[in-house]
This record gives sequence, structure tokens and C-alpha cells, in this order.
Amino acid sequence: MSTSLPSAAQSTPPRAEQSANPLIGAWSTPDGVPPYDRIRPEHYEPAFDLAIAAAREQSQRIANDPAAPTFENTIEAMERSGRELSRVANTFFTVASADATPANQAIQKNIAPKLARLSNETMLDQALFQRVDTLYQQRADLGLTPEQNRLLEQTHKRFVRAGAALPADARTRVAAINEELANLGVAFGQKLLADQKANDVFLSAAEVEGLPADQASAAAAAAEAAGKPGQYLFPATRSAAEPFLTAAPNRDAREKIWRAFTFRGDNDNANNTSAEIKRLVELRIERAKLMGAATHADFVLADSMAKTPSAAMELLMGVYTPALVRANEELRDIQALAAKDGVTDVQPWDWRYYAEQVRSERFALDEAQVKQYMPLDGIVEAMFETTQKLFGLTAHERTDIPAYADGVRVFEIREADGRKLGLFYADWFARPTKRPGAWMNSVRVPNGLLGETPIVVNNQNITPPAAGERALVSLDEAQTLFHEFGHGLHGMLSTAHYPSLSGTAVSRDFVEFPSQVYEHWITEPTILQAHARNAEGEPMPAEMLESLLKAQTFNQGFFTVQQLSSAILDMRLHQLTALPADFDAGKWEAAQLRELGVPEEIGMRHRLPHFSHIFDGGYSASYYAYTWAEAMDADGFDAFKEAGNVFDPELAAKLRREVYEVGNTRDPAESYRAFRGRMPTADALLRNRGLK
Ligand SMILES: [Zn+2]
Repeated sequence: MSTSLPSAAQSTPPRAEQSANPLIGAWSTPDGVPPYDRIRPEHYEPAFDLAIAAAREQSQRIANDPAAPTFENTIEAMERSGRELSRVANTFFTVASADATPANQAIQKNIAPKLARLSNETMLDQALFQRVDTLYQQRADLGLTPEQNRLLEQTHKRFVRAGAALPADARTRVAAINEELANLGVAFGQKLLADQKANDVFLSAAEVEGLPADQASAAAAAAEAAGKPGQYLFPATRSAAEPFLTAAPNRDAREKIWRAFTFRGDNDNANNTSAEIKRLVELRIERAKLMGAATHADFVLADSMAKTPSAAMELLMGVYTPALVRANEELRDIQALAAKDGVTDVQPWDWRYYAEQVRSERFALDEAQVKQYMPLDGIVEAMFETTQKLFGLTAHERTDIPAYADGVRVFEIREADGRKLGLFYADWFARPTKRPGAWMNSVRVPNGLLGETPIVVNNQNITPPAAGERALVSLDEAQTLFHEFGHGLHGMLSTAHYPSLSGTAVSRDFVEFPSQVYEHWITEPTILQAHARNAEGEPMPAEMLESLLKAQTFNQGFFTVQQLSSAILDMRLHQLTALPADFDAGKWEAAQLRELGVPEEIGMRHRLPHFSHIFDGGYSASYYAYTWAEAMDADGFDAFKEAGNVFDPELAAKLRREVYEVGNTRDPAESYRAFRGRMPTADALLRNRGLK
């Protein structure tokens, strides 16, 4: 055990200081919410230190209990332990992402290794594992409820997958591998960021001619800030590259941006990531062998709904094949249009530009005009109305709850009978200190064991309106709003008794189902028409709505081939059982793409040299999960269409009972089957993407 941490006694602040720290001790706030109005950044680390020491002490007490192991004194005791730490951690990590000030970032950096150390100590504690294992072996005779049995199995699996069941030398090796993998992931991420910065593109006024004014002025301001006034700065990021490639008429400039974005991590410089990739894959192969799995992919998927790489690959190839056919049709449309422009050799930097022209020609959609009918307030009403129609829930704004930043709104969600279900924090607007993207997190998970009610948070990066104006959103942002609220419902509706089985604590290939299925209701004409109104209160014109919905399947061959080529290569790479000494990620990638017939004009969404999801983000052998969940959400929503009523009460009740309420109290495949009566097929996904 490490001795570099201060002992509990050393890290306990004097009493006066302790009482001044609002994170420590009981919280006398409404609904027991975090006292964000009184927390200052300097309160977090002492509270973390105390809570980590308490968690360590509680865990050791369970491990060293002289009494023979029972479900109560071991498994249930573990569920009760570390509660102070979850409370402090959930309070902190909510703001660490949503309000990543330099002070919060510094805390995060200091806390991460302490949390990792505690987790390693606990998961490799042999006395603790012996107790869990003893109970696991006796589980048939313990008279457990199905949920208790699931908790015991999941707890045991967590220890085994961390290496606790291995002989001492293998355990030591797994711990060393895990540490090296973590360091390699960090190195990969840092090189990528450095290479992205090194690949900043500065363009001239001539090169940005024809670009929408908002893109050009943002790029001009960025260049000015970088000390190059009069130029236009485009970082090698997706959020800069994709809009540019869609809108920029200058072909040479498009090529520059495309190259900067596509070759991140794959340049002939110190930031090349190929050595990290090779080592990461080698170590994953070694660890899988130590764990008794055939490959890293088998090891990862043993803890998923798909269960085997072949099940995941079957779905991926079943979608990829028709997508490739469609992509080649799209390519012909693009070639025809490009030829009119004098471009006879369509290149990857041309696709988005000409696709956008095909789109506007075919659907006559003007994003800016559509937005006039999409006020954020109306979409929020639509979101809550959907919840009421499906589950009988209502939302009531609470102004007495302290939020962690300006603009965060808090709603109390109530059951149809008026009973309080939980609290929902809505943090929808962009802020300079917020990380990009959209996400949901839990501050408190509902559970029977401790009688706790849920608190969930949704984050998004919607542009705040100018003073006195309405906030407007795109259809994409409206879908994201519904998506994150779907996660929120999953986090709030759980009826699990044990905290670790509650809410969104499900496998990676299932967790996106409750969120993605909820997205379908925003594009229901009855919902959208009722709430999509312009400033004069007029509903969206029928032709606009129709075009908007039709355009949803546009260019899906391209998107699907991009996404699935990344998913397929991720799975194939992690199904290797050994790497040749001269393994080269770039050459391997090129050979795979040739074999799959991926058109060079399309390429991968994430090339291996910068595939952060799988080398730095916990998604190795799991990128398929997005497609897997999409097959479920499309097929799941089809059940409502088949019923002839998208608010069919019986189906809605089933969706709530069998999916949103169960958390991880049973196998996700069982939950899906209980809702749908069968396993999902790819049919509905193919239809939704217009690939059938
Ligand atoms: Zn999601």
C-alpha cells in the first residue's frame, strides 16, 4: 500500500475550518442538494481528502471483518461505503466539466491520481476479494433476490476484470500494464493536442471568399488573437473543419483544411502517434491473454450487451454493405454537380461542399429560416410535453435551489399523482468555461438502500441569445436536447435498490438506447408543429416541416461509411492476437480500407492516428456501441409506429418499466426483449438512414 498519501489524521482540518467547509458534514439545503452557493474552489480538495480517507477506512473494515462473509456485511456494506466520496465527487465533477475554470482544472489534476490509487487498492485487495469470491461461489444457496444476485455477480465481475482473481505475479503484471496503458493514453492525447495546434491553418482573405460571414469573422478574430491580424485562423478540429469544408468555395483552401484535420497524429514529426498505438495494442493483447480471453475485443465485449465481437461485427457489416451502395450513388450525384464546376476528379475535400449544394437544391432548406421557428423555450415545452404524454411526468421550475453557474435552471420532476420524483438541472447555454459537446451526469442516483432521490444534470452548448431576444436552436440541437433528457429520465426513473445498479450504470452498448429512442419524438409532426413557432406565434409552414424531415436521410451513405469504417477497424485491430515486429498502424489502416472498399473520397470518420475514443477514451473495441444502440432505438421506436400511436399508453408503460426503471439490475438484452418481445434487428436503422 502506498504511503505517500497523508493519513486521515493529517488531512483532517481543525474543527473550525471543517465547519466552515460547506462540503463537509450534513448539508442543510433544500432536498439535500449540493450547497453550490457556499462552495468555493478551495473547499474541494480538503473535502476530497477526508472522503477518500473515509472510503479507504470503510473498505478496509469490510475486508478485515472477523465475521464470516455474508451478503449484508460484505456486498451491501460495500454499497453503503464511500458515500461521502460519491457526494463530493459528483458535486465536483459536475462543475469540473460545466465550469472548467483554471481553479477547477487544477483540482481535477490533483485529485485524479488519488482517486486512481484508491480504486487500485480496493480492486486488488485480496482479503476483500476473498470475501466477495466466497459469496459468489455460494450464491445459489444465499437466498438472494434477483437484484441481490445481480449485484453480487456484477461486483465479482468488477474484481475479476481488474485482475483480482489472478495469481500474484500475473496480478502485478496486470497492474503494471494498466499503469502503462494509462500513461500511453495520456501521451497519445497530449501528442494529438500538440499536433492539432501545430496544424493551425492561417488563410488569406482570398481563400475564405464566399464563406458565411459568421465563420469568417470568428476566424478573423482568432487570427487576430494569435497575433496575425488580417488573416483567418482555422484550428484542425472537427468543429472548425466540417463547416469550412461544407461552405468554402475555394478548393485549394479546402484541401489545406482537410489535410490539417485528417493527418493529425500522422505527420512526420515528434507528435506522430504510431509508436503509442503499437504499444497500446500490444499491451491490450498481453492483458487479454493474462485474463484468459482470446483477444482484447473478446475481453471488452464479455461485459456488454453484444457479448461477442462476432455479434457486433455482424451488425456492423449488415449496415456497412448497403451504406456502401448508397455512398456510391451519392458519389455519382456529387460527381455530376462537380463536373458542372469543372471538377472532374472529386477528392475527399470536395465531398461536403458539393453534398451541401445537392442538399439545398433538393430540399430548398435555409438553416437560418428554419431556426426562426425553433425557439429554445418551445422545444423545452415539447420535451416536457413528450414526458407527460409518455410517462405522466410534469416539470415545475424551482427557484430556491442554488445552482453552480448563472443561467442554470432547476426543475422538480413530479409523477402524475404529484409525488416528487427528483430534480433536473438544465445547463443548456454555452459558456467560455464549459467543455464542448453535450452530456448528462448524475449528482445523486436514486436508490432504495439509502432512500435517496435523483438529481440529474443536462449540459449543452447552445449560443446564448442577445439581450431581449429569443434563444433559437437548430433541429440538430433540438434532437440533442431530447437526447440528453432521455439520459436524464434514465437517471431519474430507476427503481433499483442498490446505488451501483441504479440509473445509467449500464453497459456502453445499452446506455445510448434510452437517450436515442427519446430523440424520435422531437421529429413527430404533432409535437414539432405544436411548439415550433416563430416570433409572431405562427407554426412552421407544412412544406418546411416536410423538407426538414425528408432531409434527415440525406447523405447518409457518406456518414454511415465514415462511421462504420472506424467501428470496423477498431474491432478488427482489437481482434488481433499478435502484432508483427514491423507493425505500422498507417499501413495496416490503408490495407483494411482497401479490403473494405471504402471510397477514397469518403475515408474514416476517425483515422487511427487520432482515434481518441479507442486510444485515449475508454472506447477500445467499443466504437460499435453507437451503431448497436441506434439499431435498438430505431427498432424500439418502430414499436410505437406499429401500434399506430407514438404515445401508446401500454407501450409507454412498458418502455418505462422494462428500460428506464431497471438500471443494471438485469442483463440489458433481457430488458430489451421484455420491452420489444424480441431482440433488435438492423431493419429500422437502415430504413431511418434511408439505406433500404
Ligand atoms: Zn448520449
